[in-house]
Amino acid sequence: MKIAVIGTGYVGLVSGVCFSDFGHDVVCVDKNPDKIAMLERGEVPIFEPGLDQLMARNVEAGRLSFTTDLAAAIKGSEAIFIAVGTPTRRGDGHADLTYVMAAAEEIAQIASDYVVIVTKSTVPVGTNRQVKQVVKKANPDLDFDVASNPEFLREGAAIDDFMKPDRVVVGVQSERAAEIMNEVYRPLYLRDFPILTTDLESAEMIKYAANAFLAAKITFINEIAALCERTGADVKQVSHGIGLDGRIGNKFLHAGPGYGGSCFPKDTKALARIGQEHGLPMQITETVIKINEEVKRRMIDKLLDLCGGSFNGKTVGVLGVTFKPNTDDMRDAPALTIIPALVGGGAKVRVTDPQGRHEGEALLPGVSWVEDPYKCANNADLLVILTEWNEFRALDLKRIAKKMATRHLADLRNIYSVKDAKRAGFDAYESVGRAGFE
Ligand code: NAD
Repeated sequence: MKIAVIGTGYVGLVSGVCFSDFGHDVVCVDKNPDKIAMLERGEVPIFEPGLDQLMARNVEAGRLSFTTDLAAAIKGSEAIFIAVGTPTRRGDGHADLTYVMAAAEEIAQIASDYVVIVTKSTVPVGTNRQVKQVVKKANPDLDFDVASNPEFLREGAAIDDFMKPDRVVVGVQSERAAEIMNEVYRPLYLRDFPILTTDLESAEMIKYAANAFLAAKITFINEIAALCERTGADVKQVSHGIGLDGRIGNKFLHAGPGYGGSCFPKDTKALARIGQEHGLPMQITETVIKINEEVKRRMIDKLLDLCGGSFNGKTVGVLGVTFKPNTDDMRDAPALTIIPALVGGGAKVRVTDPQGRHEGEALLPGVSWVEDPYKCANNADLLVILTEWNEFRALDLKRIAKKMATRHLADLRNIYSVKDAKRAGFDAYESVGRAGFE
């Protein structure tokens, strides 16, 4: 089957590469000629573990190619996936559908044979019907269907998530579109992964409901963490204790500096907006959004305490800037709130991240970048762990402490303990939702 994928970002590129690995003939299209030039040279523009090898294997096999030419890509394609960005629209929190609608219109102007136009981007309920109208208007003679196929992959584990999904959700309006979508995902169906066929609106809603639920789960444990700090409970023990309940589950129960990334912040805002537009405020989601901002502010207060009430003149080392490990994505990362607060307060900030520098340099003015945690700690008054990269999980804490001017550690991912910090010679240690010492 021939498939075209529009957009070669985290979702489009991973989907295109994985579809080709299923055995389909895939062309990935992007408007950005630099990205396409890189891909044609065999380079992957994003950091996603394993993607480079999988891409090379499928290019080599002749099943995967890249182009800026939409017309060439969609010629003969039975399914065209739209996987462009849907960022938060300025001012009102709504998902910005400019790129999705532009892509739909471009497809309409070029396509001539029956095709299924599939929205993989995360889009508000009703968008697929709008896509249908846009295509119909631009090309009234075209025989086509629309389908909603939201993506649930996680950056950093994207290939595994795509190849071994908990479920695939496909929203359709016709049997013909359902058959083509079944064909696309046939290799997963044969291996018994659940393929859920729904109507368009339900598919669109599933994606927002899933992300809002997960954001709420993280926010819930972050709020419990704050109460643990006041009451003397330990949030790690609490998470473990509640997570063993099968109805709750142990995932997404790690307290930290607030959720970030390219999905949760924008999707919770978009869901809140959808609720408002339908006269039904999403009160839980609206509260989650508010609390998540407070969590980040609470982290800044914690750092301020460790710096004796003022950042002015202090040297602060920060380990990790990406919103989570194993990605180079900085979109809405907690680092983008916390680090500017340090810099704004007059601290000299030194940063290290295994993959974040490329994106982070432009987003974090006024910080200096070093290669490793030990250089980061040099003469510092405070060391902050912001992202739980594996590289930061087994540090020689004694060596770190020795290098510091003031031995204070803020472990905002709870990867060490009071015992570890004391043993290493730190004079102060704070984490999230657990007792520290000063
Ligand atoms: P991205 O910003 O990384 O990539 C989007 C790409 O689309 C860019 O390369 C851009 O140049 C290209 N593009 C835009 N308009 C185009 C057009 N008309 N023709 C060709 N190319 C065009 O975005 P992403 O992170 O991959 O997210 C894409 C969608 O998937 C979003 O709706 C997002 O919410 C959703 N999603 C993302 C994730 C994730 O982890 N990143 C997970 C699930 C769902």
